[in-house]
Amino acid sequence: MGEMYAAVCPCGYQSHSLLEGSGMMRQGFGIYQCQRCHALLNSRDTTQQERCSSCASRKLTPIESEEGAALICPHCKENQLQLYECGLWD
Ligand SMILES: [Zn+2]
Ligand SMILES: [Zn+2]
Repeated sequence: MGEMYAAVCPCGYQSHSLLEGSGMMRQGFGIYQCQRCHALLNSRDTTQQERCSSCASRKLTPIESEEGAALICPHCKENQLQLYECGLWD
C-alpha cells in the first residue's frame, strides 16, 4: 500500500505518477529529485545510490511528499512545482 503523487507546475509541466509508501514486504518507494536537472524519479531502495534517469547524476535528494511543498520545476526551473496526491496503489 502506498500513495501516488504527481507533480504539476503552472508552466504546464506535469510529471508522470510517482509512488511512495511501503508494503508488507518493506518494498518501499521513495521520491527523489535530481539536483542537477531537477527531474523527479522513484527509487525502490534508499540504501542504494541510484542515478538520475535523465542526466545520470548521482546527486539525488529525497522529497518530502507533503502536499503544498514547492519544488523546483525541471522545465521552467522556478520554485513552483507542486506535488499532489492522485491516488493509492497496492
Ligand atoms: Zn538529472
Ligand atoms: Zn515549470
